[in-house]
Amino acid sequence: MFREAVLGLAGNPVVKGTLTRYGMQLGASRFVAGRTLTEAIEVIREINGSGVMVTLDHLGEAVRDEKEAQAAKDSYLAMLEAIHQSGVNANVSLKLTMMGLALDEQWGWTHLLEIVEKAAFYENFVRIDMEDSPYTDVTLRLYEKVQALHPENVGVVLQAYLYRSVDDLRYLSNPPKNFRIVKGAYREPVSVAFPSKADVDDNYVRLVQESMQLGNYTAVGTHDERLIGRVLKFVHENNVPRDRFEFQMLYGVGFNLLKSLADQGYRTRVYVPYGEDWYAYYVRRVAERPANLLFFARALVAGK
Ligand SMILES: Cc1cc2nc3c(=O)[nH]c(=O)nc-3n(C[C@H](O)[C@H](O)[C@H](O)COP(=O)(O)OP(=O)(O)OC[C@H]3O[C@@H](n4cnc5c(N)ncnc54)[C@H](O)[C@@H]3O)c2cc1C
Repeated sequence: MFREAVLGLAGNPVVKGTLTRYGMQLGASRFVAGRTLTEAIEVIREINGSGVMVTLDHLGEAVRDEKEAQAAKDSYLAMLEAIHQSGVNANVSLKLTMMGLALDEQWGWTHLLEIVEKAAFYENFVRIDMEDSPYTDVTLRLYEKVQALHPENVGVVLQAYLYRSVDDLRYLSNPPKNFRIVKGAYREPVSVAFPSKADVDDNYVRLVQESMQLGNYTAVGTHDERLIGRVLKFVHENNVPRDRFEFQMLYGVGFNLLKSLADQGYRTRVYVPYGEDWYAYYVRRVAERPANLLFFARALVAGK
């Protein structure tokens, strides 16, 4: 209910204008690791120093034309280059709408392929984030196509709030692949997504367990301590090898918990976003937690 309200309000042009002006000072910087790639690499170094890996995201989605899509693709090639040159322990996460998918599927495909080819060249890895449900089919289709060419260098995300995710997981797991399981961050209708948090949580654990049982490499993307406890119980009871899964959290959320998992010898990774185009990403983080609404309120007051 809260999430729906925030995601709805955020589309309002007045709210967006005010937040874009003030949001970075008033809270967005907590979730965003700087504006430039150089700043982001320094943040990665620091996180790596705690024994935690990183997945780097250049903020942006829904580009307006081919030039913007190409620039987005070039930025990912530069990120893979910078990761290689600097020697930090990081892969990349990207959104296909940033690669032009919403305007022309072919752009989405060619840009994705070029990025995954570069990642394969450097023996690195690309995670395709999952966006809102109109893009689920095409994202999974392009993932399957590029994964067939570079099986070790690309993975995708499944969202526990979608009814379809269990079927997608089963279909895609033959042969086993690499999935990040998350609850889901977009505004979705009840026709496609569980409206109740309890159902999403149960489906989350079910997806993680089934993904592990099907032999996939499974990235457990959540800050939910209760669910992490349920996953840990499952991996111990079923002797799931520690190199077959990892825990992932977002930059600015839950780092102490992630670090304690790293200290216990689990593979761990922080999702680090950087760049100028932080608005949509920040709004989703606010929508996840009522306390973050304070930043919203402050930004609105400051704008008047
Ligand atoms: C690594 C990673 C990658 C992701 N990739 C995607 C993706 O590709 N597509 C997609 O739809 N979603 C993605 N998400 C977001 C995800 O869908 C959820 O919206 C988000 O993780 C919040 O859900 P939760 O599992 O942490 O559980 P919740 O039940 O939302 O939160 C559990 C607890 O975590 C803490 N917490 C959670 N969120 C916040 C926050 N924003 N600020 C402060 N505290 C917080 C709070 O203490 C809260 O009580 C990703 C999340 C992670 C961690």
